[in-house]
Amino acid sequence: MKYCYGPIPSRRLGRSLGISPIPRKMCNYACIYCMLGKTNPMTNTRKTIFPLKDILAELDALLANNAQYDVISIVGEGEPTLYQDLKSLILEIKKRTSKPVAVITNGALLYDPDVRSALMEADIVLPTIDAYDEASLRRINRPHPSISFELVQQGLKLFTEEYQGECWLELMLMKGINDDDASLFKYKEMLAELSYSRLYINTPIRPPAVSKVQMIDHETMEKAVLLLGGISIELFSQEKYQSDIVDDYEAIISIIRRHPMNEFEIDSFLKTRGEKEASPLIKRLEIDPLIQTILYKGIHTYRMR
Ligand code: SF4
Repeated sequence: MKYCYGPIPSRRLGRSLGISPIPRKMCNYACIYCMLGKTNPMTNTRKTIFPLKDILAELDALLANNAQYDVISIVGEGEPTLYQDLKSLILEIKKRTSKPVAVITNGALLYDPDVRSALMEADIVLPTIDAYDEASLRRINRPHPSISFELVQQGLKLFTEEYQGECWLELMLMKGINDDDASLFKYKEMLAELSYSRLYINTPIRPPAVSKVQMIDHETMEKAVLLLGGISIELFSQEKYQSDIVDDYEAIISIIRRHPMNEFEIDSFLKTRGEKEASPLIKRLEIDPLIQTILYKGIHTYRMR
């Protein structure tokens, strides 16, 4: 499948059937913590590169297979609001299922009335809020030149005022970058201006695009949770992966294509399939030219090049 995948476990959404309507790594940000690696292409122009009918044909095939899922998430391996037909995509999904439709977005394009109008149709919208001023936006998200903090902030404010569904914000905290007291108080001030249902606080548990980016410690996470009234996305929580693909190696590749996996996740995934020994497949991954092996926090993680 090219556009649809899963269901995969999501810490926030449960069993999530994913739809990625844009090419891999296409984004209007180049976040220093991005687990996909370097953004390419960097663009802020909305386009319909993949025909809506092709995406829906894949979704129909998955649904006909009786996939068990809690939510359909439009997630993109990049920024899904860059998909010009987003509104039609959401409306078409809603014709096919009564399960909630979620959109995971960096929120940069919320200043665009068409994007806000599309997202109004979703049941859950999860925008990111990593920046509290122009300098932090440039330092953390490294946006397309046409995007300013003022635009992003105005868009988010307008959206949260208008939106009737569940708005779950996500904040990524990184050691020495935005986890100091002054930054936390700026986030607090910014959050006071917004209307939302939940705030998730995250820290990069997977290899980031920029190697100096580090996770925050538990103490800082607890402080941030208390000060900002957020929910911590559990550090190192093990995701329970599953796949209908029979061949173990192909199953792992199909997961890694969407989401990097570390050596422990590969091991526990194989155990759920009755395989006792992960090392032959891990060795194969390490010499696969399509796969990048990254040593981060003493743990080997595998992602697509
Ligand atoms: S917005 Fe998401 S996909 Fe885009 S660079 Fe940031 S983390 Fe990566």
